[in-house]
Amino acid sequence: MKEIQKEQQTEFDIAIIGGGPAGLTAGLYAARARMSTVIMEKMMFGGQAAITETIENYPGFPGGIAGAELTNKIKEQASKFGLGFIDAEVKTIEKDKISEKGFIVNTDGKEISALAVIIATGADPQRLGVPGESEFEGRGVSYCATCDGPFFRDQDIVVVGGGDTAVEEGLFLTKFGSKVTLVHRRDRLRATKILQERALANPKLDFAWDSIVTEVVGEDSVEGVKIKNVKIDEEKVLPARGVFVFVGIKPNTEFLQGLVEIDKNGYVMTDENMQSSMKGIYACGDARKKLLRQVVTACGEGATAAFSAQHYVEQLKGTAYE
Ligand code: NAP
Repeated sequence: MKEIQKEQQTEFDIAIIGGGPAGLTAGLYAARARMSTVIMEKMMFGGQAAITETIENYPGFPGGIAGAELTNKIKEQASKFGLGFIDAEVKTIEKDKISEKGFIVNTDGKEISALAVIIATGADPQRLGVPGESEFEGRGVSYCATCDGPFFRDQDIVVVGGGDTAVEEGLFLTKFGSKVTLVHRRDRLRATKILQERALANPKLDFAWDSIVTEVVGEDSVEGVKIKNVKIDEEKVLPARGVFVFVGIKPNTEFLQGLVEIDKNGYVMTDENMQSSMKGIYACGDARKKLLRQVVTACGEGATAAFSAQHYVEQLKGTAYE
């Protein structure tokens, strides 16, 4: 289904910032509530979930579903109910001083007004911050196994991290690499147990425990990583053509500084209704401070944020069903 572009319209009931599962689900709910709603995305609709090879814990898909397929389906479903789309990066959000109701959302070169705003900007992969990492980004260092895994067919691959992403993507990369070595700074994994079982049973997956990457090395492209065993204080070079870094995430919330309450790690604080510290602004998904980061929780929060925003807008208009 063709999405409805809203480049010309400038006034909305609800503006959603960020087009991953949380934002798209918020859009689906807001559109069905017959709110005039736009969703704005700077990169690719679908977010991080769209670059996940298989999502096997989203209910209803016993065989798993490709992240891109799932997010495309949510987008299509939201489009069907009239959600509007704008491809743009939001730079700032400020209170509408003229109408004294709602907010002005500034993108590169355009501004729109909305009575309520839903923040669903998600998070980007955290960088390791070691020498060679940024120099070799795109030339051997990657943050996306689905995008770059096939470039390292029959070559040695290193994966850094011990959480769900590192283990899940490490397992996926065994389809390509001759050997995949997972470098983790502890002697056990953080990832969920079923992923641990699979990883430990996979003959193509090796582990460098208690180890940190201190440098990515190479000439024109990556040739390996320098790792240090933190228990015995010993350094060595692990040969690798591909280095996949999955050491956590960083919320995309810098542009909200001073507008809503944000914790020390950058996550937006909300109440159980997804209401931020600023009335009329809601947050959902990975950008929000919470316990469990999953597509299913992102979708649930998106629905709640949309419902809260709808109620707020209807109160402003005097049409709320109290
Ligand atoms: P994460 O759960 O925060 O794990 C990050 C991993 O990287 C940890 O093992 C951490 O080590 C390690 N690490 C952090 N900084 C490091 C550094 N500077 N050097 C070396 N290692 C470092 O992040 P994630 O795996 O990206 O997952 C993000 C969120 O999405 C999580 O809530 C996760 O559960 C969720 N997620 C879920 C699924 C799924 O359900 N299938 C899939 C992907 C992601 P320590 O353990 O020592 O802290």
